[in-house]
Amino acid sequence: SRKPLVAGNWKMNGDIVTNEHLFTALRSALERASISQVEVVICPPFPYLGQAGAWLGDTGIAWGAQNVAAAPNGALTGEVSVSMLLDLGCKWAIVGHSERRTLLGESSELIGRKAELCAAAGLGVIACVGETLAEREASHTDAVLARQVDALVPALRAADPARAVVAYEPVWAIGTGRTASPEMAQEAHAFIRARMADGGVAGADAIRIVYGGSVKPANAVTLFSMPDVDGGLIGGASLVADEFLNICRAAA
Ligand code: 13P
Repeated sequence: SRKPLVAGNWKMNGDIVTNEHLFTALRSALERASISQVEVVICPPFPYLGQAGAWLGDTGIAWGAQNVAAAPNGALTGEVSVSMLLDLGCKWAIVGHSERRTLLGESSELIGRKAELCAAAGLGVIACVGETLAEREASHTDAVLARQVDALVPALRAADPARAVVAYEPVWAIGTGRTASPEMAQEAHAFIRARMADGGVAGADAIRIVYGGSVKPANAVTLFSMPDVDGGLIGGASLVADEFLNICRAAA
């Protein structure tokens, strides 16, 4: 069975002082009650990865990046490589977040390449997929997911299944307060798992598929109770210690 994973995607939020409050709250909550049945990951902006390591290094909570370069090194001003993330103690990198697909024009092919570099270096990868509202309303959800998952298949075949996570994040649910119903999430997750298996991903049953999009403590329990929902990728609620911790507990 798959160990649940809950990751906080802070997006472009935080500063040294407010991060410190959040890290302190996470640490003291862990002292009161362990959440060792859940793999917990915090993904702050790049400049704060060292700070995350300093505060979380001895806690069992992992930290990771929100993005990574599609090349191993070289003349790519402003980019950050897989090996740099490993150097900073990162266990994970998010790739293919919808904000990067839509606002920054990242293609499924580029995202697949990023995921392959992670897999080859042993950096865990959290690869995001998901349809827009227009795509769902036009009944194109499966086709969109199929295309996005297929581009990840080479990386998922190469990866250790314990270090590969797919995040289903319907774009219309991100930051909107409109969550997918547990049944909708389950249907998409089952489709993604079957698509990985059809693509020859031997570890498809072991790869965690987490849900993202307006996850809150109040809806986390029912979402996480679905058979193919193996945890969550949390945006807004990951910036509030109590909310994030309650979501982690809901996954246990
Ligand atoms: P919200 O939880 O704020 O909807 O964001 C979800 C998300 O995009 C996580 O990557």
